[in-house]
Amino acid sequence: MKRNIDLNEISDGRLYSSGDMVKADCHDCAGCSACCRGMGDSIKLDPMDIWRLKKGVGKEFTALMEQEIELGIVDGMILPNVRMTPEGDVCPFLDVYGRCSIHAYRPGICRLFPLGRYYEENGIKYFIQIHECARKERGKIKNKKMARNCKLESV
Ligand code: SF4
Ligand code: SF4
Repeated sequence: MKRNIDLNEISDGRLYSSGDMVKADCHDCAGCSACCRGMGDSIKLDPMDIWRLKKGVGKEFTALMEQEIELGIVDGMILPNVRMTPEGDVCPFLDVYGRCSIHAYRPGICRLFPLGRYYEENGIKYFIQIHECARKERGKIKNKKMARNCKLESV
C-alpha cells in the first residue's frame, strides 16, 4: 500500500538496499506483541498473503471472512486486511501467550515490520519505521534477510 507522507517524519531519513545492514532485528519479538494489537485495518493482505493463509490455516477465503479477515477500500481498490477482534482489539492470530499462531505463514507486512517499503521507479527500497516498533534496542540485520522473510522479493 502506498502512503503519501514525509519520510523524514516516520524514518531515520535513510533508504536501505538489499546489501545494507539495518537496525531492525527485534530479537524474535520475545515478550512483545505490541504491533499485533490495535492495528485497525492497517494489516493489508495481498494475493500471496491470502494464498499462504488459506493453505496454512486450512480455510477457504469465505471462511476466513467470517472472523479473521475483512474487506476495505484502499485507493479505490477493494483489499482484504486482518480483522482485529471486536472484544480485545487484537489480531485474531495472536495466541494466549502473546505469540503469532501463524508465524510460518503470517502476512508479508508482519514479516517485514518494522521496515517499510519505499517504491521507486527502478524498484523498491526500505526504510525503518522509527515510531512503530516498541523495542528500542534492536539489533542489526542484513536487509536482504528481512526482505527475504517478507516475500519472494528480489532486492
Ligand atoms: S499475523 Fe501474527 S505477526 Fe501479524 S499481527 Fe497477527 S499475530 Fe501479529
Ligand atoms: S513492536 Fe517490535 S518487538 Fe514488539 S512485536 Fe512488534 S516488531 Fe516485535
